[in-house]
Amino acid sequence: MIAAGLRGKSIPDPNGETLADGAQRLLAGWGRTIPTRARVRRVAGPDDVGAVFGTVWPRGVLARGLGRSYGDAAQNAGGEVLDMTSLQRVHGLDLERGTVVVDAGASIDALIRLLLPFGWFLPVSPGTRYVTVGGAIASDIHGKNHHRDGSFCEHVSAFVLQTPAGERMDVTPQGRPDVFWATAGGMGLTGVILSATLQLLRVQTSHMRVVTQRTADLHDTMARMAAGDGVHRYSVAWIDCLAPGRRLGRSVLLGADHATVEDLPAPSRSSALVRSSPRGLAAPCWIADGLVNRMSVAAFNEAYFRRAPRKRHIAIRPLDRFFYPLDSVRRWNRLYGPRGFLQYHFVVPFGCEDAIRGALERLNNGGCPSFLAVLKRFGGQQGMLSFPMPGWTLAFDVPATAPGLAALLDGLDLLVAEAGGRVYLAKDSRLRPELLEAMYPRLAGWRAIREQLDPDRVMRSDLARRLGLAG
Ligand SMILES: Cc1cc2nc3c(=O)[nH]c(=O)nc-3n(C[C@H](O)[C@H](O)[C@H](O)COP(=O)(O)OP(=O)(O)OC[C@H]3O[C@@H](n4cnc5c(N)ncnc54)[C@H](O)[C@@H]3O)c2cc1C
Repeated sequence: MIAAGLRGKSIPDPNGETLADGAQRLLAGWGRTIPTRARVRRVAGPDDVGAVFGTVWPRGVLARGLGRSYGDAAQNAGGEVLDMTSLQRVHGLDLERGTVVVDAGASIDALIRLLLPFGWFLPVSPGTRYVTVGGAIASDIHGKNHHRDGSFCEHVSAFVLQTPAGERMDVTPQGRPDVFWATAGGMGLTGVILSATLQLLRVQTSHMRVVTQRTADLHDTMARMAAGDGVHRYSVAWIDCLAPGRRLGRSVLLGADHATVEDLPAPSRSSALVRSSPRGLAAPCWIADGLVNRMSVAAFNEAYFRRAPRKRHIAIRPLDRFFYPLDSVRRWNRLYGPRGFLQYHFVVPFGCEDAIRGALERLNNGGCPSFLAVLKRFGGQQGMLSFPMPGWTLAFDVPATAPGLAALLDGLDLLVAEAGGRVYLAKDSRLRPELLEAMYPRLAGWRAIREQLDPDRVMRSDLARRLGLAG
């Protein structure tokens, strides 16, 4: 067992700066669409959180991690925001059992640097490594292996929650299932997560064995993904969402597993767990509005599709390249220009494949430029407000300035709700409150638990106000 801080480079907020302590700051999500001003307080230790809750704040309090939620989930206009990113001590590491006890402000990037040399990895990893443990629990994030391993919180065996009512609770899924599954996916509205115990995944190497295939259309993509469920731990399809007509839904389909030592070429086997340092370019901040237009995006999508091998192809790739391809361009969110962009991310139950087809058709016909859409398969749902449910999940990015975008996405909301699906709150910046209960049927139960934990409604966010989330 060890107790130490996670050293490493500081990771800036999406605003591009490290947050100053106690100052009023304009805060945005990764999409940079609806920034609002709040007073930001840096949390250096758990007692700082308790101290903040000792005072009455008219506009409430909210914890913020690395600001990688796309919309307004980590904003609290006119209120207090606790920057958790300095709280990153490692309290314990059990290399036999594969568990780590770590502060909530530690990033996935820092954890990989700590754990991988010992042959351990996180069992659920999102599309960026710049996410904190607190943010991962609050959004109950998923990876490319949800169909097999579930979401992040299914691998959390305990966390410490500071409630606004002043209680510091040790929460486990067995001891307090109500509090655990209301906080998992609860978007930071049940209190502040201070630390967590994570169960880890044993790996032999820092590489992935990736099987790449091109698919002809949506039917082909879905059929191959369904057939691959039991074959690969990870699976994802990058769909060219601008391919029209019969080619609609054509994709580059990746199935992957952690490479074994035998998978590596002989000279690399002695350094199997050494991580190839993920270097990257930085996106320039002077990119003008309009660079991301239908023509440039269609050309990119076509090139991406053509670059993929025609026939099924197996390759050994560094882990970072498979899990976090976008992290190699720092601040790529600026490519969309100063008005920002939205990610529309939804899930519909299995059996509602037509809703996925309908969404792609509408996106295509609507003329919105969208880079590759991401299609994945989900297993079950545990958290009361967790996004995943058994079904198909699709995500695509669009510039906030795209003509007709509001009407297109409003229409998609209805399509998704009618199919019994939902949009992801961690990515949302525009859903209307009327659809929330239909999309999240356990909302009333969640509100009742939140009421017990936060009777004075101290925890608030722009997302919660916009959607009337907390009742
Ligand atoms: C490029 C990219 C790829 C992504 N890929 C995926 C993906 O594959 N799967 C997926 O599920 N998500 C994905 N995401 C979304 C991201 O994982 C979530 O939004 C995550 O919550 C961000 O963590 P964060 O530390 O940046 O939290 P923030 O964005 O700062 O906050 C998110 C929420 O967590 C709450 N919160 C943060 N810290 C605490 C704490 N200590 N206590 C209580 N509440 C807290 C905040 O109040 C807020 O409600 C992606 C995001 C990006 C930018």
